[in-house]
Order: sequence, then structure tokens, then C-alpha cells
Amino acid sequence: MAQEDVFKKLVAHCKEYGYVFPSSEIYDGLGAVYDYGQNGVELKNNIKKYWWDSMILLRENVVGLDSAIFMHPTVWKASGHVDAFNDPLIDNKDSKKRYRADALIEELAAKYEEKAEKEVEKARQRFGERFDEALFRQTNPQVTANIEKRNALVARLSAALNANDLAELRQIIIDNKIACPLCGTCNWTEVRQFNLMFATEMGSTAEGATKVYLRPETAQGIFVNFLNVQKSGRMKVPFGIAQIGKAFRNEIIARQFIFRVREFEQMEMQYFVRPGQGLDAFRQWKEARMKWHRALGFNPADYRFHDHEKLAHYANAATDIEYRFPFGFKEVEGIHSRTDFDLSRHQEFSGKKMQYFDPELNESYVPHVVETSIGVDRVFLQVIAAAYREEATDAATRVLLALPPALAPVKLAVMPLVKKDGLPEKALEIIRQLRFDHRCQYDEKDSIGKRYRRQDAIGTPFCITVDHDSLEDNTVTIRYRDTMQQERVAIDQLPAIIDEKTSLKTLLRALD
Ligand code: ATP
Repeated sequence: MAQEDVFKKLVAHCKEYGYVFPSSEIYDGLGAVYDYGQNGVELKNNIKKYWWDSMILLRENVVGLDSAIFMHPTVWKASGHVDAFNDPLIDNKDSKKRYRADALIEELAAKYEEKAEKEVEKARQRFGERFDEALFRQTNPQVTANIEKRNALVARLSAALNANDLAELRQIIIDNKIACPLCGTCNWTEVRQFNLMFATEMGSTAEGATKVYLRPETAQGIFVNFLNVQKSGRMKVPFGIAQIGKAFRNEIIARQFIFRVREFEQMEMQYFVRPGQGLDAFRQWKEARMKWHRALGFNPADYRFHDHEKLAHYANAATDIEYRFPFGFKEVEGIHSRTDFDLSRHQEFSGKKMQYFDPELNESYVPHVVETSIGVDRVFLQVIAAAYREEATDAATRVLLALPPALAPVKLAVMPLVKKDGLPEKALEIIRQLRFDHRCQYDEKDSIGKRYRRQDAIGTPFCITVDHDSLEDNTVTIRYRDTMQQERVAIDQLPAIIDEKTSLKTLLRALD
């Protein structure tokens, strides 16, 4: 199946099974804003808990914070967002569609890379075990030509972005004959800068109102509270502050479902270190964060680092963790070594010292910062995309979400074989026993096969069937989602079986 079709199915699946709905759907929706349904909210909460516990429980020197969405407007002046949180936009005069100029160029670069990868893949299949991939990559003319084209394009794009040269961005689009994906023409407007922050007014009278912003990232709430947390928590550098919260960006294009939305949630952690220790900390966090992703158990080959060739002026190292979505490798998380840029800027704009007195060195300094920044909605999409499967069975296609059990919204479904003879009562008794620890669902409608399929589609790892024997010997049939295998077990054993497989501890232990 073409990857585009897979993605369409995924979006439809999310709606059909209560994961994600378009916002205000009865009014035809609101662009790039989504609501999370009864299963979506559970998956989201489980992802957040996995991240939070990995930061707060497993690390003594990382603490949490929940700062307000509204902040003093000068925060955004100091952070550079008022002046520079822009995307270059371009319109096609024929289709009237708007695009990010840099994204159009990046897409072409990705196409060159894809072409090269396809050649490598074809050769791998042709040569089998004898395939020398490194040699092929160096010598195959198709591969080298496409990679050269990609590299030249990326270098030209980086130079234009660094120089903030909007005319050059347009020229790259023209020179490479990049056409509007919708109408196919190259009839482009000039490139303009567009600030991504949403603004509103705070105050009761028009004259007295202050312009405030909906935060475009949660990180600034951490920076401005750095000393509050350090002093009240008697924290010693190195230490980290972690936060989960909403962020808002007026994205120019938002076409890939919840991948790029205008209201989203971030999980960010700023790690404060001594000057000179940023790069070491950066390397450690890079490794730790990849481990967090891989512990979910999906195909390791679908994750990769993308080290930034172009660094922001304040960063001395940056990388993205990318995942192979149905629409290609894309960023899920950013890890940045930001030097002392943010704290120094707040020191400058607020006139307040943002320094830490280091008792071991007996000196004060502005700490350097490594940040890890990940979008909840993006991990959500990544997890759903990785978990979605269609399997041919004897009867029909089985659609399942092979979610890591610790993240699954419903951990087990309990089903009486028939709706009589005391079986429903027995099933409900099991639920009453397990519901304090696990989200359970009771299901008595339709044939048992149909009920299994419903649970497969929402990703429930276990189905428990209660039959007449259960009344006699207190055993039930447990059916495993991924293998469809069934086993007879004692009801007393259920808490241990379910606990072992679905507890967040199973994921967290892999990080230890
Ligand atoms: P992109 O290049 O995709 O716009 P970015 O580099 O601007 O992302 P950051 O500012 O580094 O992103 O934000 C950190 C993380 O927040 C991203 O890795 C992503 O997971 C998430 N994120 C950023 N923008 C959005 C958005 N509009 N919708 C959903 N998640 C987002």
C-alpha cells in the first residue's frame, strides 16, 4: 500500500476509534487544531507520564515545574521570539496556496535523498548477502549524483537562512523549478517573513491593555524561574527543570494531521551546567533521549539523529531525533546545547542577576544550558503510526494497534461468553478487582470474534473471556493481542500477569 494511503487510513482510524477528532467539527473544523477523544486522552496521558517519570523519578537532580501560559511580554523580546520567531512564507499566485519557502526546498532535498536510498535498497535486494553498501554508496553514479544535488541544495538553503536573504530563498525555488504541489505552476510571489506567535490583550480597558502572547514554547517559563527553583530546592549545578504544557504557534502550513498543529503540548527539560560542560551534557542527553524512544520497542531502524549543519548563533551543538513517518523521516524531538544565551538575555532585559554561586568553585556564573524538547502530539502520531498494522487473516483483514502495553489506553477487556447464566456478573467481579490498577473495559455485545477485533483496533493488549467453566474452577481465557494466542489462567493470576506486562516500570527499567 502506498504510504499516503497508509497515512489516510491512520487518520480515519484515529477518528473512528476515539483517538483524535478535528476541533469544532460540527462547524467544519478549525485549521490545524484537534481534540483528543476517550482513547486519545489516555494515550496522551500515558506518554506524558512515561516522559515525566523518566525525568523526575529516575533522576534525582531533575525537578518539575508548571509555569503559566501567559508571561510578561518582555520575556519574548529577551528570548528573541518577537524579532526572530519567523518563518519565510511564499504564495503561489495561481492556486493562492501559501507555503513555507524553506519547507518547499527541504522537500526537494528529501526527494533527492529518497531517490538515492531507493537505489541502495534495489541493489541490496539484487545482490543479497554479497552487497557492499559502503562501496555502492561511494561509487554508484545515481546515488552520488542525487546526494550531491541534495547537499548543494541544503548548503544553499542554509546560507540563505543564515543571511536572512529572502530574495535568495525565492531564487532557489525558481532555479530548481519547484512547482506548487497543487497547481503545478512556478508562479510565485516574493518571500515574506511571518511571525508565528499568537498575540492577545490583557487588561479590562482598551487604553490600559497590554499585548501578551500565547507562549510558543514552554522553555521560557523554566528560564525565568531558574533561580526560584534553584534557591527553594537548594539545587546544585548540574540540575534540570522539566515541564509539560501547552504551546501555540500560528503555523503557516499545517497539513500533516497532528504532526504540525497550532495548539500543541511540549515536554521540555532544561539542564543547567557549569560553563564549558555543555557539550558533554549534550552528548549524554542525546544518548539518553534516544534510549527513551527505543525503549518503546518499535523498529530501531526507523529512528535516526539529524545533527544540525546550520546552528543558531547561540547554540554550539544541536540534533533532532527523527522518526520514519509514512511521509518520511521527520523531527520528533530537538536536543540543543544553548550556551548561556537564554539566561544572559534575561539578565540583560530584566536587570536581575541570573547567576549561580558554585560552592565548589567558590565563584558565581551564568550556567550553560542543554535542552531536550519534544512534542506530545508528535510522539502520539509517531506511536500510532508505528503501531498501526493490517494483517491478513483467514476471515478478513485484522486491523490492530500494536501499542506498547504500558501506553495502551485500555489495558484489558473482560467479556462474558454469553449474556446469561451469571457470566456477566463474574466478568464484572473481575473488573471490580482490577480497576484500581488498570483501565478495564466490559464488553458483552456481538460475537466474541467481533469483540476481539474491536479491542485489537484500539490496541487493548489483553482480552479476558469468562465462560461456564470459569464459574466452576475460577479460570478464564486470556488472549494476547499481538499473537492472538490464548491461554487458560486462574483469575488469581490475572493481577500479576497484567501488571508485569502493562506497568510503566517495564519501560522505565530499560532506561536505568
Ligand atoms: P519544526 O522544524 O518541525 O517546525 P521546530 O524545530 O520549530 O520544529 P522546536 O521549536 O525545536 O521545533 O520544538 C520542539 C518540539 O516541539 C519539536 O520537536 C516538535 O516535537 C514539537 N513541535 C514544534 N512545533 C510543533 C507544532 N506546530 N505542532 C506539533 N508539535 C510541534
